[in-house]
Amino acid sequence: MITAGFDPARSLDCGDCGHLYDPAAGDPARGVPPGTAFARLPAGWRCPGCGAAPHRFAGPAVSADPARERVVALIEAYRHVAATDMKGLPVCNSALSVEAVEFHPYGDAMLGALITPWTLNVVLLPNDPARYESLNDGDKVSEVMPSATYGFTIARLGALGAIAAIPAVSDMTVLRDRNDAVAAAVAALKTVLTPRPPEPPAAPEPEPASAPAAERSGGVSRRSLFRGRRA
Ligand code: FE
Repeated sequence: MITAGFDPARSLDCGDCGHLYDPAAGDPARGVPPGTAFARLPAGWRCPGCGAAPHRFAGPAVSADPARERVVALIEAYRHVAATDMKGLPVCNSALSVEAVEFHPYGDAMLGALITPWTLNVVLLPNDPARYESLNDGDKVSEVMPSATYGFTIARLGALGAIAAIPAVSDMTVLRDRNDAVAAAVAALKTVLTPRPPEPPAAPEPEPASAPAAERSGGVSRRSLFRGRRA
């Protein structure tokens, strides 16, 4: 809940799914322009991640959580990159802004998907900035996820320490809008977090001619996500 003295520019996260509402980004897909404080959201607005009512979004109590603060710092770090190094580059989708999707505690880290105008990654953000201290930008680290063991790529972000990321969508210009990006982010996280059923002993079924509609999300086939990355 919003309390007196709470900074209207601060982000709030959904207590049900972890979706972060960022006032700077607003929610253009639902007619909420960038710069809209949480308290100014229109009546009937619901969490884009899970449909929860606004009262499910937490204010200062949860935002004071150091792990949540690090997610906000992650967004701010990438927003700075978007406004400087990546600004105006043709690889950027101008319909998109930096956005954290469904970040939630995962072991001693926060796991979620990070949308930027130029890439979409599943990101492991350690609670301890020193966790990947011995690794350099671009190094690989194996992390066990419920679906498989993935080779995450290290990215160093100054005082935030290093994060580990796996790319889910590398060409963001194929996405039409923010809804596409959020759908792809949610699908990527689900792919990583869904345990793989044991391999059946029988011979594999023949491949269908094309991916069924249910496998498509936001214009990106889930089959294209993490291709060849299963350990
Ligand atoms: Fe939610």
